[in-house]
Amino acid sequence: MMIAHATIPLILYGLFPNHISLLALLLGSGAPNFDVLPTLLRKKTPKNALTEFHAASVLHTPFFYLILLPFVYLLLDYFTVASSLTIAISFSIGGILHILMECFDEKGRLLLYPFSKKFYGIPVFPYDFWTYLTSKKTLAIEGLFFVIACAVLALRWAGLYAGF
Ligand SMILES: [Zn+2]
Repeated sequence: MMIAHATIPLILYGLFPNHISLLALLLGSGAPNFDVLPTLLRKKTPKNALTEFHAASVLHTPFFYLILLPFVYLLLDYFTVASSLTIAISFSIGGILHILMECFDEKGRLLLYPFSKKFYGIPVFPYDFWTYLTSKKTLAIEGLFFVIACAVLALRWAGLYAGF
């Protein structure tokens, strides 16, 4: 999922505003996609998108964000950043959420890395970028999350829901 990398963190933030750093959550949710750089630098679409490096690197493993969590916390704490634990946890949740959302494409993700190099998931969506963008199923589900995110945030901003 693509737009959901922003809308699902927004929904989470809308529901639990007192326990989440929105910026860290969004940064964490975007972090796994840095492994698309080799594909972009080659400036061509791989012949078989399923075998490309993107979404198959350590950046797309929950393990990476669990290992990173204490280091992010200690670094922020060292510089006496306020709410350093909330920021570190939000960042890791963002990264792990990104990967869990993407388990629903036909590639799957390395959920159990480093214990297994197998890709796990439930193939609901296509993996290929253009096929994904032009799928009606994609439009419906991404659109639904967008509407839910707008509704949750609107309720909060209108003061009808304070959040947990
Ligand atoms: Zn991704």
